[in-house]
Order: sequence, then structure tokens, then C-alpha cells
Amino acid sequence: MLKDFMFHLPTKIVSGRGGLSELPSEARSLKGRNILIVTDKGVRAAGIVDRVVTHLNEGGFRGVYIFDDVAPNPRTDEVNKGYIYAKKVEANLLIAVGGGSSIDTAKGIGILIGNGGQIEEYEGIDKLKKPMPPLIAIPTTVGTGSEVTGFAVITDLKRKFKLTIGDVKLSPNVAILDSDLVASLPPRIIAATSMDALSHAIEGYVCKVSMPVTDAIALYAIELIAKNIRTAVYGDDYEAKANLQLAGMLAGIVISQTDVASVHCMGEALGGMYDTAHGIANASILPVVMAYNAIADIDKYAKIAKCLGIDTDHMTKREAAIASAHAVKELNEDLSIPSLSEIGVREEDMRTLAEKAEANMSNSVNPRAVTSVEYLTLFKKAYEGII
Ligand code: NAD
Repeated sequence: MLKDFMFHLPTKIVSGRGGLSELPSEARSLKGRNILIVTDKGVRAAGIVDRVVTHLNEGGFRGVYIFDDVAPNPRTDEVNKGYIYAKKVEANLLIAVGGGSSIDTAKGIGILIGNGGQIEEYEGIDKLKKPMPPLIAIPTTVGTGSEVTGFAVITDLKRKFKLTIGDVKLSPNVAILDSDLVASLPPRIIAATSMDALSHAIEGYVCKVSMPVTDAIALYAIELIAKNIRTAVYGDDYEAKANLQLAGMLAGIVISQTDVASVHCMGEALGGMYDTAHGIANASILPVVMAYNAIADIDKYAKIAKCLGIDTDHMTKREAAIASAHAVKELNEDLSIPSLSEIGVREEDMRTLAEKAEANMSNSVNPRAVTSVEYLTLFKKAYEGII
């Protein structure tokens, strides 16, 4: 039986080598006057922000301001600081340049410009009363897909918890994907952020709110990642990195319309407590959750196995489904993704982590029921490196 679905992607996507040259005309269409670039110091040091500013200046924009106080796993206080600066410069267009952390901080700043109050008030779904100013997202990692999603993930320092804000009003107006911007991405960041994209494609495909349009996109994204990730990380191959950038955005489209599931519930618990890089957190959890979920949707996990490049012809569907989890475990080993013990997770924190995972709003859509009891077992398995 075909599922009912609704697909709404308000973001215009401009993709291609040198795509940054489209920025001035996009900024003009959005009536940008005082432009605030939201970024972080690593992206700035990579020379990317200078290129963005040059394009804007050459396009005739004079009011260009930079806020670069964003850290990985961006926090509520960074959003507040950015908001104060945005008010000071009377920003009427936001341009996020960076990975998910910069893009989500720009979204947080935009929420406060449009709605006021404290960012924590908007946790949950559809809490925004008013729109934010227009936002152009220029991703420089290959993972989060935040450039096309209506989500912002911000760490609430008081609760040591990554809060999620979901609202279609958070979708960037324009996403500019320029493959030149990921060409110099350090291999460890390619590895971590591509594994994040893989977890989005897999979770968006298997979760209870999946839909036919995104299923097709997810399988293509999984295939693109499996085919390109090792070459991009170890071969420094331009084309492979460009394909991963595309895959990261496609996986973002998948979760923008569906949801994530238990991998993110656990990964975000880790990020909130230990400030673990988001891609690493998800990658280290992904195989164990796949092994747990596989029997709940053997058909889908068997298809994932095929897209991962496994020769499933002589396997039963069940064997193929389980093989998908082993393939991702091998991928983690090849990419030197650290285990939970290497990340520094403490055994005495695991119960709290399990409770935080259960409290995550994506828990209910995991294909197999999970409570804190099962989460505790999954955390222990990931800690020991077994699936
Ligand atoms: P990130 O933005 O935290 O960046 C990681 C590091 O990479 C930073 O130190 C940055 O300086 C560096 N970097 C980025 N681009 C670079 C480049 N081209 N060259 C050199 N260095 C570069 O990483 P991320 O994984 O993209 O984002 C993670 C955040 O996104 C997490 O907080 C996560 O929760 C969030 N997220 C959001 C969504 C969403 O839909 N909003 C989805 C998934 C994840």
C-alpha cells in the first residue's frame, strides 16, 4: 500500500564547481543590504570567508559583517552573542558559511531576530510564530545537510543536552553548493561528516515516517557515499569529494521531510555530554543500531546492503540485512572512527546517556521500539565495539 506523504522543500539549490559566483545575484534577489556572515574560525582560517566577502564586495555589497564565534556543537550562548551582534549591525540577510554548526547558529540567530525571547523557548516542532530574515547557506562540510533542512540543533549548556528546533521557517532560502569549498576539507572531517550523512540517509529511509520520494533519494545517497568515501578520504580525489557534498545535501533532503531515529538519539546524547563531534558520535553508534533494527525491516536493510556495495545475490534477505551493519562497522574501521571507549565515554554515565536518548524527540520513529533499557545495552555494545 502506497504511503500518504507531503513533500515540501522551500530551499533553492544552486550546485556546481565555482557556484559561489552566484552568491551576489542570490543576495540581491533576497534584498540583502546589511549582510551578516555566520561562520567559525576554522572555516575562516581555510580562506573560505575571504572568498565569500570578495564575491559580495564585487557584487556591490558594502554592509558585510562577520560573526565567527561558532564552535562545533554550537551552544545557546553563541546564538545569543550572534543575535546581539546581528541587532547591532541591523542585519537583514544572513549568510551561513561552514558546516552544520555555523548553519544552525545562523538559524538560531534568525529565530531570535524574527521572534525575540530565548532560543530554548523554541525547542520542539513548529514553535516559531514569525519567519526569520532570509538565509543563504553555503556548506563547507559534507555531512549535516542543514543547508536544506528546517532544523537547528543547539546545545543547551544548562542541561548538557542538544535541543532540536524544527520548523519549515528555518529552511534556508538558498543553498549554494560549491565543490571547490570542500576540496581542501581535511580527511578526518570528510570521514566524520560523510558518516553523518550516511546515518541521515539510513535513518531517514528506515524511520517510521519515511516516504517514497525520500526513500529513492536515500538509497542514491547511500550508494554515492559508499562508492566515494574511501577515495575521498585516502585518495584526495576532487570528484569523490564533490559526490560526497551532493550526497550530504541529498541525505539532508531526506531528513528534512522525514526524521532521524535512534542513532541520532544516542549520538546527540553523546554530543550534549561530551561535546563529541557530531559525525563521530553518529558513526560510532550506527552499526550497533543497524544490527538492532535490521530484523524490524529486513527488506529495507537488505536494500541498504546492496547500496553499500555488498554482493547480496547468494544471501537470504535476513543475511543481507544483518550484513549491512557489518559493512558499516568495517567502514568505521577503515576510516579509524573511534569507539565509545576511545571517545572517553565513562561507563558510569551510560545510564544517563540512555535516558537522554530515550527523551530525544526522534525516539518514537525508530523502526524498532527502544526504551532506556535497550539504549543502555546499545551504548554498552558500542563501547565494547561489538554489534
Ligand atoms: P562543524 O560545522 O561542527 O565543523 C567541524 C569542523 O570542521 C570545524 O572545526 C570547522 O572549522 C571545520 N571545517 C568546516 N569546513 C571546513 C573546510 N572546508 N576546511 C577546513 N575546515 C573546515 O561540523 P558539521 O559536522 O558539519 O556540523 C555538526 C553540527 O551540525 C552538529 O551540532 C550537529 O548536531 C548539527 N546538525 C544539524 C542538522 C540540521 O539539520 N540542522 C543535521 C545534522 C547535524
